[in-house]
Amino acid sequence: MSEYDTVLHPDFLVPIVPRGQVLTAHSVALNGDHIGAIIPRAEAQKVVSAAHIDLPGCVLLPGFINLHCHAAMSLLRGYADDMPLMSWLQRYIWPTEQKMVSPDFVRDGSDLAIAELLKGGTTTLVDNYYFPEITAEQCDSAGLRALLNFPIIDVETAWARDAQTCINRGLALRDRYRDHDRIEIGFGPHSTYSVSESTLNQVAMLAEELDAPVHIHLQETKEEVLNSVERCGLRPIDLLQKLGLLGPRTHCVHMNALGEQDIETLALHGAHVVHCPRSNLKLGSGISPVQRLLDRGVNVALGTDGAASNNRLSMLAEAQTASLIGKVQQGDPQAVSAWSALEMATLSGAQALGQGHQLGSIESGKLADLIAVDMSGAHQLPQHDVVSNLIYASSGNEVLWSWIGGRLVVRDGELQTLDYNDVTQRAMQWSSQLGAVRSSLEHSHK
Ligand SMILES: [Zn+2]
Repeated sequence: MSEYDTVLHPDFLVPIVPRGQVLTAHSVALNGDHIGAIIPRAEAQKVVSAAHIDLPGCVLLPGFINLHCHAAMSLLRGYADDMPLMSWLQRYIWPTEQKMVSPDFVRDGSDLAIAELLKGGTTTLVDNYYFPEITAEQCDSAGLRALLNFPIIDVETAWARDAQTCINRGLALRDRYRDHDRIEIGFGPHSTYSVSESTLNQVAMLAEELDAPVHIHLQETKEEVLNSVERCGLRPIDLLQKLGLLGPRTHCVHMNALGEQDIETLALHGAHVVHCPRSNLKLGSGISPVQRLLDRGVNVALGTDGAASNNRLSMLAEAQTASLIGKVQQGDPQAVSAWSALEMATLSGAQALGQGHQLGSIESGKLADLIAVDMSGAHQLPQHDVVSNLIYASSGNEVLWSWIGGRLVVRDGELQTLDYNDVTQRAMQWSSQLGAVRSSLEHSHK
């Protein structure tokens, strides 16, 4: 058995498939960028000419797949809190972005996010922000797997003067990464309230022709749905359906304001829901009826959203919140179980990306995107149920090791592909400049 190059020996192994399985005394052997096999410990210890890594106290899981983020917005963490979505966007976020977003802003903000994401166990990032070409480069050099959806919005931004320019730049970027093994480029129309029907129509045609993912904020609040009905006579999801934008490559992000008919429409078209519970709670936007979606067979993945509205990029925190509010939303403590939340953070994310055959579980032949999470702290003991402790008792800071395509990116808590001190120092340097912009905005609203 010398075909393996690395063998990992955790205390617990949660492969996700089959559902509910927690293995002890088992090891995982890696073969290049793939998972070679799951082997009983005694046998695994006999594998010669491979590096053996002991992971005492740890559970080994597939890496987390964060289906919705705006990485560079990490520089706006804590910048404008405690206000509703539209005031937050119109009074603070959009004017600040107009003034401050630049290649440097996106580089430093993306690096800050990537450091937090890697240390939190995210191995695949789905991002949506201006200058996606910069975020793509930073993800690539950090070894992260990523789908970068280029933003499409009708107003002029620091990145592009109109929607057509967004599309032209995005398509050129998609072309540049056509053969990349970890980076993919998709379409990111912001929402049905900020992108015209004719642009959405164009996106539908191009995305179909290119078989590319489409990622859109949808039905985040009741007001969004009401305004849409007033504007065009259709709910946002029905508008997407009419335009041919709803299908198995569509990510409907948020989906808080949902009726039964909307759930049927999602199921009918095989579109995915991306649930961002902490952002939705913080902006007071609403709570997605996740258990009802799952019961209807709709795939629900999990995203952190950006740090400006969360304010963390921790998939463990997100899974915990999803499970807790899922129960309140449904009025049922059995709703959105710990297992459901863990699946949403892993396999469901892979399925939303059309990568269910490659990612999201620990199975022979899949890509070696793996994380080891320390479960030995006082707050995680005793270990009656590892998955319960993982979802309900974690702080989010327990991820110690991470591999992406077999490459070690976090080793015993230390980043291997980014200089943590450099990243955090660059982030701090933005404080005074951004603080001055915020003061001027506060002043102008008085
Ligand atoms: Zn968002």
